[in-house]
Parts: sequence; structure tokens; C-alpha cells
Amino acid sequence: MIQISALPAFTDNYIWLLQDQHHQRCAVVDPGDAAPVVAWLQQHPGWVLSDILITHHHHDHVGGVEQLKQLSGATVYGPARENIPGRDVALDDQDQVSVLGCEFRVMSVPGHTLGHIAYYHDGLLFCGDTLFAAGCGRLFEGTPEQMHQSLDSLAALPAETRVYCTHEYTLSNLKFAQAVEPHNPDIAERLATVIQLREDGRMTLPSTLALEKLTNPFLRTAETSVKQKADERNGLDNLSQSAVFAALRAWKDKF
Ligand code: ZN
Ligand code: FE
Repeated sequence: MIQISALPAFTDNYIWLLQDQHHQRCAVVDPGDAAPVVAWLQQHPGWVLSDILITHHHHDHVGGVEQLKQLSGATVYGPARENIPGRDVALDDQDQVSVLGCEFRVMSVPGHTLGHIAYYHDGLLFCGDTLFAAGCGRLFEGTPEQMHQSLDSLAALPAETRVYCTHEYTLSNLKFAQAVEPHNPDIAERLATVIQLREDGRMTLPSTLALEKLTNPFLRTAETSVKQKADERNGLDNLSQSAVFAALRAWKDKF
């Protein structure tokens, strides 16, 4: 069994720390900064950092990789199609990786970046900047169609899957979700919960796919009310779900 906790980095990043208590080994996902990981290792003598998982090439996800690799000798896994510092194992869609005794399946999820990958193991999803709590990543490299398809493939995982994304954007995402669906009671309820969590200085992650399907507008492009709102925004009859997605994403970029 692995235990998961968050090491905050920069202003709103989380570096996910995976711990194998039995062997005192650990892994981190997307260490954009080495310092929080180094501090944790210093506070936990005897623990070995054995693996580093990377979802995409942005600096806030890879900035700490080389220092951590040098310090620990950890194996660095990352997307084959992107330039990842210190990468030892290049991963593509459907590859399997064994980390802390768990088999993770690699999913190609282009959109935010073209080579972006996610890692899935038995109800645990590490999805970088693809699916966020109540939102999704910006389209820096990919098309709306690619991102929509990537989100679809993540949404097809089991509903109880816990979603470990990399940024604390939930509150602002939910404000947008409420603008899209002002009458959605699940969004209103989640917004109240998240406002309270943030007031208490607590994190809003992980999410679950079940909750995302109820409250994340980018996973709700099939809903009539969401389509109507998208049509209203861009003045088109958005006939496909990916057209609805594109309209929502463009709106959110300026929200
Ligand atoms: Zn990114
Ligand atoms: Fe990021």
C-alpha cells in the first residue's frame, strides 16, 4: 500500500509524494522545485527517493529533477515526446511502469502540451496539468479536439478514481463552473466546501472522477444547459462536444 501526501511548491503547485512505508522508499510526481523534497528527506532520515515521475516538460514540473536525481540516484520517468531533463525511461501511451511495487499505466493525454502523459494505478490518477479539480489545463500546444479527447479518456476511468492534479486552482475553477451552470446544485455545494477549505488554509485535492463529472464544466459538454451556454458565448450552434469544449476553454481563458 502506498500513502500519498502533498508537498506544496511555488504559489499553487503540489508535488505528490508517494510513500512505501514497508520499504521506506518514496517517489515524487512533478518536482518543479527540489527544495520541498530535499526538506522532507532531511526530516525523514532512512527514507530513499527511488523514483521521479514527470507528466510534461513545463518548468514548474521539472525544475527540481536534476538536483533530486543527483542527490538520490532516483530513476526519472517522463514522456517520450518531450524534452525532460535527466529522463531515464521514456514513456508512451499504454506503457507500464513499476513504481514502489505498483504497476502504473501510462496514458497519452495531449492538449496542455503535446507529449503530456498521465499515470494511473488502481484508482489513483496523476494527471499533471490536464484535468484539474473543476477545470482543465490551458491549451499551450494542443488543439481543443485533442484536449477534449484526453479528458474523455480520463473520465472513462473508474468513478471512484482519486484525481491528483498539480495545481490548487479549484476555487477559481469553481467560480467559472458556476458561471457556466448557475443552477447546478453540486457546483454550489462544492464551491461552499472549497471556500471553507481555502479559508482554513487547506488543500482541495485530491478530487474524484465522480465529483468531477458532477461539477467540472469541461467534463459536462454533453449537458444541454452547458451547450446552450457555450452557444450563447460564441454565437454559434456548437454541434459537437469538442466544439462546446472549445467554446468553454476560450471563455475560461478570459474569465
Ligand atoms: Zn504545465
Ligand atoms: Fe503547471
